[in-house]
Amino acid sequence: MDLSAQRAKLIEHLVKCGVLKTKRIVDAFKEVRRDLFVANETLQYAYHDIALPISNSSTISQPSTVAIMLELLQPYQGEKILEIGTGSGWETCLLSKCVGEKGRIISIEIDPEVEEFARSNIKKMKLKNIKTFVGDGSGGYSKLAPYDKIIFTAAIPKVDQTVFAQLNPKGRVVAPVGGSLLQIMKVFDRVSETKIEVRDYGTFQFVPLRGKLGY
Ligand code: SAH
Repeated sequence: MDLSAQRAKLIEHLVKCGVLKTKRIVDAFKEVRRDLFVANETLQYAYHDIALPISNSSTISQPSTVAIMLELLQPYQGEKILEIGTGSGWETCLLSKCVGEKGRIISIEIDPEVEEFARSNIKKMKLKNIKTFVGDGSGGYSKLAPYDKIIFTAAIPKVDQTVFAQLNPKGRVVAPVGGSLLQIMKVFDRVSETKIEVRDYGTFQFVPLRGKLGY
């Protein structure tokens, strides 16, 4: 089966099992080809529902995990979103499609080589609403705050006030929180100036966050 048929089959599977639900997120999956973001050596596995290595400490995330996170984040047209852990840039481009031309995606990656890989991948998509940076995003990226939403694509021990302070009113953070081996997916909603509501969504395994507030 060629890659485009495999892509259609994977998306159909994610929709059928209820992981992908929202039309604009399903459309983003259709528009952003994962095979453009994987390492050459793993091209044949681009549409297997597994994470794939892109460097010693980075992976392109598993498609079903990305779908779950985007469904929890609910990126809307026009929003400004911070992604911490650019990785391959695949999820960055999915987010970009969801927020549309009037939205903005800011993505920060700690590993300069991975950021360069992501930038060259993102270029292929000709998207104008993405900015990537090299740096430690464990405490967010206050320079360009506030954000409507913040997504951590690496495991984090704890989301703290430094990050919540970078959210707009009614803002949301989605992050895998816990130990470096196993985490719980958490959704944090800013419901007032001082109050954050938290919901839990199952266990996951992400690469650990490095940097000041990492492991
Ligand atoms: N969603 C991405 C996968 C990202 S893997 C994709 O599908 O391609 C997590 C990424 O977080 C790795 O690239 C890792 O280098 C990066 N990372 C780890 N600690 C970080 C930190 N403190 N700040 C920014 N990025 C970090």
